[in-house]
Amino acid sequence: MTRKKILVTGGAGFVGSHLCERLLNEGNEVFCLDNFFTGQKQNIVHLLDNPFFELIRHDVTAPFFIEADEIYNLACPASPIHYQYNPIKTMKTSVMGAINMLGLAKRIKAKILQASTSEVYGNPLVHPQPEGYWGHVNPIGERSCYDEGKRAAETLFIDYNKQNQVDIKIIRIFNTYGPRMHPNDGRVVSNFIVQALQNQDITIYGQGQQTRSFQFIDDLVEGMIRMMASGDHFPGPVNIGNPVEFTILELAEKVIQLTGSQSKIIHKPLPSDDPMMRQPDITLAKKELDWSPKIDLDEGLIKTIEFFKSDLFKLEPENIYEEIM
Ligand code: NAD
Ligand code: UDP
Repeated sequence: MTRKKILVTGGAGFVGSHLCERLLNEGNEVFCLDNFFTGQKQNIVHLLDNPFFELIRHDVTAPFFIEADEIYNLACPASPIHYQYNPIKTMKTSVMGAINMLGLAKRIKAKILQASTSEVYGNPLVHPQPEGYWGHVNPIGERSCYDEGKRAAETLFIDYNKQNQVDIKIIRIFNTYGPRMHPNDGRVVSNFIVQALQNQDITIYGQGQQTRSFQFIDDLVEGMIRMMASGDHFPGPVNIGNPVEFTILELAEKVIQLTGSQSKIIHKPLPSDDPMMRQPDITLAKKELDWSPKIDLDEGLIKTIEFFKSDLFKLEPENIYEEIM
């Protein structure tokens, strides 16, 4: 077997750390690049002893050079509180990061995969969302730095493919959860689990009738690897998500039940431009990648709850938040 050299930007984050682990387990050499804005050393500390793992502190908005066969471009804060903290930087990370990584891929002739997002569909008017849907996105709202940054990155990927024949792959990731989510990054699954484990109020924004379709991390990583391995006839974009849809209220009730928590549900104002529904159409992923998610919400939530209960969740959320900001 040949050992591939693989660069993972954003490798110390939630998704990136699982991907690095899987790629190493498959016998590859992994370069994990991260500026540690939302990533944590704790996510990858167990990989540091592996001689085929290398950690590089770098910001993707600056050019970078390395020899690699494949690049997974994940660097970008993903939770609304983090990407809205410095919206200009978020846009720079998506756009300049894409330009720098595509330039690198072109120069070294590497295959490159972009971690795009269901947010490119905005607050969708088509349901479920197929890849052919162009979306319904506010260009000047709270979420625009992330949504439009990711849309621009997709454009860059497609144009580097057409103009410079770079071997590109685009996946649109739908809400993903699992161990190593940042306990204080504000995303709904981590918020609800942390609140439930501490018997604090569960904060539903709005009435909780908005929907999301939650995918467990292992299913996503499998989809990413299959997409990278697919032939060059299929650059994507392709949706990678679990099509089983829940209201946020249903999620809250499930988390309370699975944790046996005494928490009460309270309601807070719905943030602006919060999408009312989201569900992937995964027909294309099934056909082209023979991929579909295997882990249902109960099974995935139980694994995630175990993580937050375990020794890994040592720090108080308040302290972790201060560390990042
Ligand atoms: P995360 O915040 O845990 O990970 C992002 C990583 O990128 C962090 O380690 C962070 O430090 C790093 N990073 C941020 N800006 C950087 C920069 N300028 N230079 C170098 N590194 C930088 O988020 P995640 O959930 O692991 O998301 C990973 C990728 O997947 C992101 O691109 C995100 O947009 C995409 N995605 C995730 C989801 C999801 O539900 N988790 C959904 C859709 C898309
Ligand atoms: N949400 C909520 N309570 C929380 C955090 C989030 O009700 O404590 C809602 C949020 O308004 C959104 C959904 O849960 O409707 C998913 O939010 P998240 O930030 O996880 O992902 P995204 O909105 O980017 O899909």
